[in-house]
Amino acid sequence: MGKKLAVSWVTFACCEDSSILFVELLNEHFFEWKEKLDFRYCRLLKNKGNSFDGSDVTFVEGAIATKEDEEELKMIREKSKRLVAIGSCACTGLPSAQRNTFDDSTRREIMLIVERFGHLEKVHPIKDIVKVDYQVPGCPMDEKIFLDTLSKLLAEFEVK
Ligand code: SF4
Repeated sequence: MGKKLAVSWVTFACCEDSSILFVELLNEHFFEWKEKLDFRYCRLLKNKGNSFDGSDVTFVEGAIATKEDEEELKMIREKSKRLVAIGSCACTGLPSAQRNTFDDSTRREIMLIVERFGHLEKVHPIKDIVKVDYQVPGCPMDEKIFLDTLSKLLAEFEVK
């Protein structure tokens, strides 16, 4: 069996539409990716044995809204050789970060929830917290840029 790219897929604050798009792409790419990708952490595809340990690449969808998510993202960065921001929320924060632009009166209305659920004062794109190697923009992600990025990563890790 040839070398595989160890990949993980994780989502933070978002609507998970890029996850849906990724699963839809399996309709076309399942047999090709079965030979080339080893899914380490991907709760979309498996509910047992999920771990970021040994990930060559982790795809991160969504923005960072809580201290807990911030710490998890830092842990994921340490365990992943490459990190890819998936979709506009991960790349820029928006639209998940809309509360950052609320006026004072609207902010006062949501403060109870922000404090009670341990949310950060602002919602962040992942590049505010950790180094990002590649970005796939779009809402949801641009399918072509995702496939191009995956091809680059397969070449970089010499997976044929
Ligand atoms: S970028 Fe768009 S599609 Fe992706 S999680 Fe955010 S809102 Fe949803």
